[in-house]
Amino acid sequence: MFRTAIRQFIEREIMPHVEEWEAAGRMPRSIWPRLGELGFLGVEYDEKYGGSGADLRTTMVLHEECARSRSGSFAMAVGVHCDMASPHLYWTGSEALKTKYLPAMCRGELLTAIAVTEPGGGSDVAAIRTRAVRDGDHYVLNGSKMFITNGATADVFFVAARVEAGSADKRHRGISMFLVERNTPGFTVSRTLDKMGMRASDTAELAFQDLRVPADHLLGREGVGFYEVMRVFQRERLVAGLHAIGMADRALDDTMAYVRERRAFGAPLSDKQVVRHKLADCATQLEAARALTYAACLKYEAGEDAIREISMVKLFTAEMVNRVAYDCVQLHGGYGYMREYPIERFARDARLLPIGGGTSEIMREIIAKHLPL
Ligand SMILES: Cc1cc2nc3c(=O)[nH]c(=O)nc-3n(C[C@H](O)[C@H](O)[C@H](O)COP(=O)(O)OP(=O)(O)OC[C@H]3O[C@@H](n4cnc5c(N)ncnc54)[C@H](O)[C@@H]3O)c2cc1C
Repeated sequence: MFRTAIRQFIEREIMPHVEEWEAAGRMPRSIWPRLGELGFLGVEYDEKYGGSGADLRTTMVLHEECARSRSGSFAMAVGVHCDMASPHLYWTGSEALKTKYLPAMCRGELLTAIAVTEPGGGSDVAAIRTRAVRDGDHYVLNGSKMFITNGATADVFFVAARVEAGSADKRHRGISMFLVERNTPGFTVSRTLDKMGMRASDTAELAFQDLRVPADHLLGREGVGFYEVMRVFQRERLVAGLHAIGMADRALDDTMAYVRERRAFGAPLSDKQVVRHKLADCATQLEAARALTYAACLKYEAGEDAIREISMVKLFTAEMVNRVAYDCVQLHGGYGYMREYPIERFARDARLLPIGGGTSEIMREIIAKHLPL
């Protein structure tokens, strides 16, 4: 029932506008209250904070269906708000902060972003340089953040900053997460970044100059933010896997429709064995990705340590969706290279997946650490 509801909403209220939003380079703010009204934001959060109290399977359906919208941007914006940024508050925020902010986040009145990556590097999270210095009942933040999704439009940011230097061998010590409101003096969107794909999603560089954050906006305990970032990364990477699956699923549907219609040498392309085999390979890779992702989701939901499996999901699905993108563009011939065909956008959007949320190289590093080497 949930899948039917979200699918119908996306077909009626999102898909007709995707081209227009891509051209404009943004999505209208009005989609957020609408998503909230339909109960699609905060599906796993407790009802007392405005959530739906549902389970991870509902979240899995949500993200797969968002990614089938032919807009990677829409899927990414929803994914960041629901399962990459706001979990920091839900999991580690005080009761007072949760009561104050979560209901408006679930209603889509407050949009959120997660700010970890810095201009100097994203893979090495322990190298964060943004500083937070305690001053009375505030922390004073100075630094900058790079590539922040929803960065130009979000109202609330979850910012990773360093409260102490940390020794050379324990660099991850001293990182904390802070809830920062956009209208705080000292907060600037330095620039909105122009991207290869995901063009309707805004990505920004942020600067903090003597930005005063109330001390009670510290999430969790001071100095243990690195572990919180890593905990939310597990969920983020599963969502990335679900995005890859939803995107590849839609691209294959579109490509199959195209090769049934398109004729060459007197017959539909779908009659040619080479075309059929290419699509059989894509469908097999997609199915393998789906099985791996669902298995990791179930392990994660059971509360077991699933870091190895989740890293495999992130690696495998990101590379799968790019192989599928390559083949689907190829099967569209010249039209696959044209902006008027959604498959062209799909190929550009998919290219982010082996980079964002932890690169494929970092996923291989994590998996290798779990091997008996
Ligand atoms: C569109 C977009 C949206 C994003 N949204 C957000 C967001 O909302 N919030 C946020 O905090 N971040 C966000 N990011 C940042 C993203 O997570 C980082 O880009 C990513 O983690 C990689 O960091 P980097 O770009 O600094 O690359 P680097 O860390 O500089 O890496 C460059 C290259 O070196 C490789 N490399 C690095 N270290 C190693 C190693 N030890 N071994 C082998 N290879 C290595 C990497 O795999 C990569 O290929 C976004 C990025 C993009 C492009």
